[in-house]
Amino acid sequence: MLKNKTALVTGSTSGIGLGIAKALARQGANIVLNGFGDVEGARQQIEALGVPVFYHGADMSRPADIEDMMHAAEQRFGRVDILVNNAGIQHVAPIEDFPPERWDAIIAINLSSAFHTTRLALPAMKAANWGRIINVASVHGLVASAQKSAYVAAKHGLVGLTKVVALETATTGVTCNAICPGWVLTPLVQKQVDAKAAALGISNEEATRLLLGEKEPSMQFTTPEELGELAVFFCSPAANNVRGVAWNMDGGWAAQ
Ligand code: NAD
Repeated sequence: MLKNKTALVTGSTSGIGLGIAKALARQGANIVLNGFGDVEGARQQIEALGVPVFYHGADMSRPADIEDMMHAAEQRFGRVDILVNNAGIQHVAPIEDFPPERWDAIIAINLSSAFHTTRLALPAMKAANWGRIINVASVHGLVASAQKSAYVAAKHGLVGLTKVVALETATTGVTCNAICPGWVLTPLVQKQVDAKAAALGISNEEATRLLLGEKEPSMQFTTPEELGELAVFFCSPAANNVRGVAWNMDGGWAAQ
């Protein structure tokens, strides 16, 4: 379905981003990978799906890096047709103890980077009259949790940005939507499980049950594979007129 299309997924060396990149690659899209850590492992997983891969190590907190990545992706594949704004970090602390530099980093990586990639990707998408912008927000783009001020502010902002871009592209073949996962067992969440286990002196298994039980009625993690399939749906012709939605996949979290 996506042969000859190019998908750029920020933060795609791990977790949800890698899951989405793999799902789009299975549909035949060329993939632009980004992120840190096990770059080679991610590259190999995409290459095994038989599509061309290009990696760019832009730091999403740096607008100049983002510009460089968008230009490099265009040079390599001609155009970015599918933009997935996924890179994100977390920090958990009460607001009066929240380090200002962590606030700045979270707003830059989880929110402002999507503004920069979107403004740079849109002209070519509009010229082609086809494009998909998918923002990986969170259930925290819809509801709040204590101790996550920067993350909740950034994700609510990202849902707002999604709606504005959807309106500004409403009469074109470009759509913009957000995905709002509940808990997904990636390194980002494993850190929170580990912190809970250490703070309460309990096993990892018990901490996982507590974490799910506090928020997620299904008591199940959403998987990167499931989120990848949702991204594929947003790229399908059936979703041509799905615009500005914030679609949760959260085991019932936001229904409470
Ligand atoms: P993860 O830690 O597994 O992956 C994060 C990715 O972002 C990695 O590839 C990492 O290298 C990259 N990254 C981090 N900082 C970066 C930077 N400055 N520049 C470029 N890349 C950077 O986390 P994840 O759980 O897969 O999270 C992906 C997205 O999903 C995030 O936006 C997160 O907020 C969101 N999300 C996660 C969950 C969850 O439960 N895991 C739930 C809702 C939303």
